[in-house]
Amino acid sequence: MKSLNARRGLTQSAPYFIPVFREPAYLRSGEVAHCRAMQLLLADIIEVLEHMAPPSLAEGWDNVGLQIGDPHRWINSVWVALDPGPDVVAAACRSQVDLLITHHPLFFHPVQRIQTDMPLGAVIEQAVRHGLAIYCLHTNWDAVSGGLNDMLAQRLGLRHLRPLRQSQEASDRHRHGLGRVGTLARVKDLCDLAQEVKQRLGAVAVRLAGDPRLKVRHVALATGSGGSLVGDFLGTEAEVFISGDLRYHEVRDIEYARRGVIDVGHFHSEHLTVDAIVQRLRRAFRRRDPRLRIQACALEKDPFSVV
Ligand SMILES: [Zn+2]
Repeated sequence: MKSLNARRGLTQSAPYFIPVFREPAYLRSGEVAHCRAMQLLLADIIEVLEHMAPPSLAEGWDNVGLQIGDPHRWINSVWVALDPGPDVVAAACRSQVDLLITHHPLFFHPVQRIQTDMPLGAVIEQAVRHGLAIYCLHTNWDAVSGGLNDMLAQRLGLRHLRPLRQSQEASDRHRHGLGRVGTLARVKDLCDLAQEVKQRLGAVAVRLAGDPRLKVRHVALATGSGGSLVGDFLGTEAEVFISGDLRYHEVRDIEYARRGVIDVGHFHSEHLTVDAIVQRLRRAFRRRDPRLRIQACALEKDPFSVV
């Protein structure tokens, strides 16, 4: 139980209190901003997250949304991270965080047992014990127009963006889909582009395949593991594919097609999501609950190091 609720005499799991503190529709209009500040429920934050990244845009194999938690609980403190790993969850619990928003899901596969001496079971136990909710924005956030793929493309200076594989829900106004294709402001050699990408993403190293002198004007990219989109890339005019976690034979296929690859690693293709979500949520909730603390988890780093 959190102190504010304790002062109000609330138990956090009392759903019958919800109507009392739910924001009436007229307060959402912005006309009475001075009256709007009030504590938020997890359900209020989920509403905004699902507006940012509709779950219907997620891939069929994915598991986005609330992983652990009660939508009727009050939220005072939010962390955003890439992975709901044991160190991140332990630190969030120590810091009395109420909601951890991650990019990667906690559960990818149906859970058959919760063994608390194993990493996943220990995370579940700790989160439940401390009342930490975990919510995931994954392939829905990758795919949505203005989401993670667009952010990566903008970070890399690409223009005239379109999805690499368009979503069925895409329209003229909303260019949803996996990956992006765009153009550079001017033609660059593949090797120079790789150096620039490394710098823009703050990576220690990136891997390059193909002729380093290949002239690049059109770029395809995919956040995370882009292997499943190699065929889509080869069907475009793009000379290079930027992604992470590419496999040997996928890279060979690209090399045989006389194109290039820049593998930036999974972590560096996605970690920019953390600050982006923090900024979006701070903007969304600044007026509604100025006391709500929203922070990036500062613990995460690429699991790979270069020796
Ligand atoms: Zn990923």
